Amino acid sequence: MIYADNAATTKLDIDAFEAMKPFFLENYANASQPYSFARSAKKALRDARTSIAKCIGALPEEIYFTSGGTESDNWVIKGMLQYGDYRAVVTSAFEHHAILHACQHIERLGYPVAYVYPTNAGIVSSRNLATIISPQTKLVSIMMANNEIGTIQPIQELCTLSHSQGALFHTDAVQAVGHIPIDVHGLGVDFLSASAHKFNGPKGIGFLYIKQGTTIEPFSDGGAQEYGLRAGTENIASIVGMSVALQKSCEELHTVQLYLKELEQIILLKLDAAHIDYCRNGKEPHIPGNLSLSFKGFDGEMLLHRLDLMGIMVSTGSACNSKNTQLSHVLQAIRANEDYAMGTIRISLGKSNTKEEAEKIADSLIKILSKH
Ligand code: PLP
Repeated sequence: MIYADNAATTKLDIDAFEAMKPFFLENYANASQPYSFARSAKKALRDARTSIAKCIGALPEEIYFTSGGTESDNWVIKGMLQYGDYRAVVTSAFEHHAILHACQHIERLGYPVAYVYPTNAGIVSSRNLATIISPQTKLVSIMMANNEIGTIQPIQELCTLSHSQGALFHTDAVQAVGHIPIDVHGLGVDFLSASAHKFNGPKGIGFLYIKQGTTIEPFSDGGAQEYGLRAGTENIASIVGMSVALQKSCEELHTVQLYLKELEQIILLKLDAAHIDYCRNGKEPHIPGNLSLSFKGFDGEMLLHRLDLMGIMVSTGSACNSKNTQLSHVLQAIRANEDYAMGTIRISLGKSNTKEEAEKIADSLIKILSKH
């Protein structure tokens, strides 16, 4: 089997797995307890927070553990609500559903939400944002990298513009953390969402970066965990797994980036050499390894199933969208050419894919496309 759907999820890193093990059967204490048996859980929690903070240029006290990207995104959007304060949220039309559906939820409660459209190249420009944002905007939320087409957004510029209008800035960096260098203080963002299973960490764990001094409503009420803002016994094993996976991803980042670009080229050059009529969605810069390709006159679902029969796992769009045969909201938002867009697949390569696998993916695609 060739797994080429790393934007949907990744394989757990073996070192992360090993680091998690002692926290299931040996050091299983609740980190909130004062006795000595809880010491190693407490230390693991502290070390993981410090290590994760370092990877994104944050302070340890700015990292809040959550159950993943969906929770972090929901927390920011809903945590901004305050009775009597009806200033707007601005987001983009091609965000992940964790943001879009949370925004629809607050709209139903009477809070205004405005949507900025990305360009045809898959970029939210500060020029477009400037037409929508106003001093009445409370929060701007723009993703760092799009999960379907991989385009990387000019976050620093968008954040500066938002701050100039007095708005807070959140970025859903679920597809970016562990894949491109990130320095939250340099970017100036107030909130950043991340999810471990996108960078070879375990599923069901993530974090929200909250800039020191920024006000947000608690995600949950209960115990004093996560500085009193996200109550619930900490998932120490997963937190440890996430910190090991992130540290490793950051250490290997430049090597892996170059390698994934090389794999992309293997596929694209083979398609070119076979004179396949395709277009790549979104302009550079892309998240390394993310290839959203559209084939004229083909159906993405059909391509996915034919590749599956040949042992190759890809996606038609985002994983949450794969049962939907209509054009995805992302391709609609960038106004992708419909002749091509219906035949879109997302190949997302990871560090464990080999060059031979990249060749096999291209050869299999060419076989399917030429037979038709
Ligand atoms: N945001 C983006 C951009 C994503 O790609 C995903 C997952 O696909 C999420 C949020 C949701 O993250 P999680 O699966 O950790 O809930």
